[in-house]
Amino acid sequence: MTNVLLAERTAAAPAVETIHSIGIIGAGQMGSGIAHVSALAGFEVRLEDVSKDALDNALQTIDKNLARQVQRGRITEDVRTAALKRIRPNTGYSPFRDCDLVIEAATEKEEVKRAIFKQLIPELKPDAIIATNTSSISITRLAAGTDRPSRFIGMHFMNPVPAMQLVELIRGIATDEATFQTARALAVKLGKTPVAAEDFPAFIVNRILLPMINEAVYALYEGVGSVESIDTAMKLGAHHPMGPLELADFIGLDVCLAVMQVLHEGLADSKYRPCPLLVKYVEAGWLGRKTGRGFYDYSGEKPVPTR
Ligand code: NAD
Repeated sequence: MTNVLLAERTAAAPAVETIHSIGIIGAGQMGSGIAHVSALAGFEVRLEDVSKDALDNALQTIDKNLARQVQRGRITEDVRTAALKRIRPNTGYSPFRDCDLVIEAATEKEEVKRAIFKQLIPELKPDAIIATNTSSISITRLAAGTDRPSRFIGMHFMNPVPAMQLVELIRGIATDEATFQTARALAVKLGKTPVAAEDFPAFIVNRILLPMINEAVYALYEGVGSVESIDTAMKLGAHHPMGPLELADFIGLDVCLAVMQVLHEGLADSKYRPCPLLVKYVEAGWLGRKTGRGFYDYSGEKPVPTR
């Protein structure tokens, strides 16, 4: 009886050996990084974005980053060429019908992600797993909006994906064990170390990291220090490799704000109130590195602090 149940549970999702083709939705910073590591690990990759420019930029970035790995002697030129060939860009979801697993890495807005799943599901194999790279949104709630909550999971990669070791794995309330184990094996096959986190707002890393970044923006807003002094203080005083404002620009200020809003609403505690200055920067379209301006100006050769 136990074995039958176990067999049924294992059959609920494909094991990692049966995953050949991975679909990735969103070709921004994260989607392009996930495509990079997936192609290097030998998977066929479908990379989708609503924006043709985002797809073009993603392919250029992946090409450049693979070339850097060749220069550093980490991979050969043949491996680079083969990996690039495995990534097929597209707009629309019909090419996802062959995918065994799809990782959603589009803009951090719940309505965007819900709309994506609605369009994706009619094209998808019934047993394909859906993973989301959301930084903060409830996995259980996103899963409930799909036809397969048991085969839905959070796979939260870190930025930049090719360099960062960690993947947080987040089960929704309905995620089955086979899906969790497949996602775990996939993370390992991609060269990452998985850590399980429970489905609470922002999971582990961002629950701790983003309030620190938000506090750094408050320190700037209140005039406790300049951009340079805050970043230097945390680098030299807390041994952080990057200052919190530099890191915020790197993550994207829109992503930082979205995570703080999820923490604020999800935990209903005023200590998570997004700093008004962070809100202003996002309203201005100053989103950090990706738009050329955030707490630093990236238009010249070296980033220049803006305050
Ligand atoms: P990004 O802004 O660089 O990229 C988002 C991409 O999604 C854009 O190219 C956009 O065109 C695309 N997009 C928007 N709507 C879409 C749709 N309907 N269909 C397909 N594509 C669509 O953002 P990012 O930093 O790559 O973040 C993506 C996801 O990864 C978010 O959920 C974010 O929370 C998460 N994440 C981000 C980081 C980080 O440090 N930036 C780290 C971990 C996880």
